[in-house]
Amino acid sequence: MIITDNHMHVYRHLKLEAIEQFKQAGGTHVLLVSLLAHHYDVNPKTGKDFVKVFEEHISMVRKANRIVKAYAVLGVHPAEITILGPRYGFERAAEIMKEALDIAGEYVAKGEAIAIKSGRPHYRVDSHVWRLSNDVMRHAFEIAKEVGCAVQLHTESYNREMGMEIAKIADEVGLRREKVVKHFSPPKVREFEEIGIFPSVIAGNENVLAAAREGSRFVVETDYIDDPKRPGAVLGPKTVPKKVKELLRHGFDEDFIYKICKENIEKLYGVELEG
Ligand SMILES: [Zn+2]
Repeated sequence: MIITDNHMHVYRHLKLEAIEQFKQAGGTHVLLVSLLAHHYDVNPKTGKDFVKVFEEHISMVRKANRIVKAYAVLGVHPAEITILGPRYGFERAAEIMKEALDIAGEYVAKGEAIAIKSGRPHYRVDSHVWRLSNDVMRHAFEIAKEVGCAVQLHTESYNREMGMEIAKIADEVGLRREKVVKHFSPPKVREFEEIGIFPSVIAGNENVLAAAREGSRFVVETDYIDDPKRPGAVLGPKTVPKKVKELLRHGFDEDFIYKICKENIEKLYGVELEG
């Protein structure tokens, strides 16, 4: 059985042991997402400085690949604007982030990553920073359209209005709505289907079951952060396999799991998953 975690990090805590645990619990495929530049001891002055971030991340993904099938997602975290803005000015910070996203797109074009990650701050920022953040996200959509890849989005908490707003930005750019994957989504599968953007449901509590009861147009994630300073934050690496297998006990069959963990992933990212 194929079981895919759509959004996980390996960083400084369990590292590859987290991937081992994922595998032992039944996980087979994982998308590993790069973190903020400072996690790699990089203080970016230009977009090019993100090359070190991306290279380090890809090298970790290669190691994870010896355990399960792992794919790289290269992100420029929306919180970078809050880190870089005070140093270089917010306009310049946004430029650096856009340059870094261009480079992330090149990695996808070369086949070394399967998607990019962008978004906008999940916390309150002033209207100037908000506008710049939206510009950065729009730029990510442009790259995704050009390269033909998906964008994982880190944003403020989901609600219908913001979903619609983001779908509209995708439309303006000409990026297909289903190529926008909302990371950390609630299990509102039907609502996402109406809006068109794609939910990556956070696998905590009864979310996976609740999502499954609404349909099969979703993927699942833990957002496991692998940070020694926040060991209990978000979910552990075994959560997706555990919650997906629970579906079988609730009357969902293996075909249903195949749809979520294989077909949906293949369609979103243009990859082929082998069992
Ligand atoms: Zn994350």
